Amino acid sequence: MKKILLTPGPTPVPEEVLLAMAAPILHHRTEEFGEIFSRCLDGLKYVYQTSNEVLVVAASGTGAMEASVVNFSRPDDKVIVASCGNFGERWTKILRAYGINPIEISFGWGQAVDPAEIEKRLKENPEIKAVYTTLTETSTGVVNDIETIGQVVARSEAILVVDAISGLAGDKLLTDEWKVDVAVSGSQKGLMLPPGLAFVSLSPKAINLLETATLPRFYFDFRLMRKSVGTKETPFTPAVSLFVGLDRALAMIKEKGLGNIWRDCEKMARAVRQALLSLGLKLVAERPANIVTAAYLPENIDGGKLVKTLRQEYGISIAGGQGKLKGKIIRLAHTGYISPSDILAGLGALEKVLNNSGYKVSPGISLSRFSETINNV
Ligand SMILES: *Cc1c(COP(=O)(O)O)cnc(C)c1O
Repeated sequence: MKKILLTPGPTPVPEEVLLAMAAPILHHRTEEFGEIFSRCLDGLKYVYQTSNEVLVVAASGTGAMEASVVNFSRPDDKVIVASCGNFGERWTKILRAYGINPIEISFGWGQAVDPAEIEKRLKENPEIKAVYTTLTETSTGVVNDIETIGQVVARSEAILVVDAISGLAGDKLLTDEWKVDVAVSGSQKGLMLPPGLAFVSLSPKAINLLETATLPRFYFDFRLMRKSVGTKETPFTPAVSLFVGLDRALAMIKEKGLGNIWRDCEKMARAVRQALLSLGLKLVAERPANIVTAAYLPENIDGGKLVKTLRQEYGISIAGGQGKLKGKIIRLAHTGYISPSDILAGLGALEKVLNNSGYKVSPGISLSRFSETINNV
């Protein structure tokens, strides 16, 4: 059976990228690798819209999140976590693992982070060192107003650390213009690669904290990584084949243009929202992202079972809910190499499974709504 991935990570990988990665392995202490490495860093700066330094880590996105805790902090630091879902809460879990108890500004799952609340807490606590938050909260399909949060945090001494793991190259992110000090991302979402690489951009304000931080770090020490960038290397063996794939994926992104990628994600997002509404489903996000859409299922439908049926009977992978939304929602991604025809296949199968579960929808309704909307944007 042909399989279609509509999950918000991993996302499908283009054939060009897969073939590039199938080439025989290179040694990493060579000029040949050095050139790929430099091109990748330049390409990442374009995708991040930054002139800041960008580092690449061999880890999943969470590894770069952890690295963005240990490289800036001391155990007695005061930091803020502004969250509105599962991934925002991950910042708190990582900080606690290192003995830091953050000031938590939590919003309901489905709501967005209110920048005014961050501003208030920063005023009350001028000694705050860092504000951790999320660009696109993949668990609920919310996109946060990082532009406004960036203005608020820039007026304080704190650095702004943003989890842009699912958002990068899908939802708009202007790292420099929005004053994001540290933007974390990963390979397996908008960048159209397999899992395994993670990225971090560092502003001068963030770089200043590297020396004063005292939490334990070794593999994830940004100081070592920055040093080896000068010789076009990584401190330890890089994930060579993933770099080769990244080089190819970044070339594809450049060729298409970031603005066009953002626009296509936005078009698909609007059309998916209309399609799900046409099925009578309620959307989860009050400030919906362009890379993923989450919708509540009718109460008598078991989300876990529905996701499994779609995968086993139709070869379509969508995501269910996480944490407190487990079993209650579905999430469809529209980023990276996902195209409208993949989504049409997903919607068609979803309609069938809903009908078979006793929730009657008029066959084809979401497909025609999707097509009408995407052609009218
Ligand atoms: C996928 C994702 C992560 C986690 O990344 P891993 O690669 O699974 O470690 C973190 N934050 C957000 C917002 C994500 O979507």
